[in-house]
Amino acid sequence: MIILTVDKAKDWMKEIQKRLSENKDQLTALDQAIGDGDHGINMERGFHEVVAKINHVTYDSASDVLKSAAMTLMAKVGGASGPLYGTAFLKMSLAMQGKEVDQVVFKQSINDAVEGLQDRGKADFGEKTLYDVWKQVADFLEAEDVEDWQGMLEVCQATIEDTRELTATKGRASYLKERSKGHVDPGSMSSFYIFEALTEVLDLEE
Ligand code: ADP
Ligand code: MG
Repeated sequence: MIILTVDKAKDWMKEIQKRLSENKDQLTALDQAIGDGDHGINMERGFHEVVAKINHVTYDSASDVLKSAAMTLMAKVGGASGPLYGTAFLKMSLAMQGKEVDQVVFKQSINDAVEGLQDRGKADFGEKTLYDVWKQVADFLEAEDVEDWQGMLEVCQATIEDTRELTATKGRASYLKERSKGHVDPGSMSSFYIFEALTEVLDLEE
């Protein structure tokens, strides 16, 4: 069964934008606690640009939609998160290229995104970054029925909560060392909205 069509890929980006815009202040507050306070602005602006672009272009495939999003994020989002999310969506796009996106292709695309994030950010699991969430999602999809989207979101939520007690060892929050403990990682939170948006879109399926 095809799970990500061109239209669903576009809707995914729009649903992400909606959530990031609604939760901009929360992401800002999280980044104020352990970073420089720009994560809400970075993400909202980035996905605003992504949606502005995809609304004006006709795409042939889900792969092309994600590639366009990736390029926009890399070009328009300053900070660590722009190149990281850009890489994740680019890797997904490449895994989907020339294919209909069924469960197998989708799983592969998430695995490739996780690999791309690790190459780019050099983070391992448990370093209190958005990589934690992506890695857990990939592992969950590997082990479980890919259509258990609710289960996937529960895993995301648990992972975000786990970042709270971790000491950051990558990114800006690592400057705080032990003092980064006690706060949820902002990038993990924005990754949650990305996956929540995905389940919203895929649940629209009859
Ligand atoms: P900046 O840290 O440059 O201000 P943002 O505030 O937009 O950029 O993004 C911060 C988020 O980026 C962090 O919460 C973390 O999840 C993620 N991040 C930072 N560095 C890395 C890294 N090396 N690998 C993976 N994720 C990272
Ligand atoms: Mg920041």
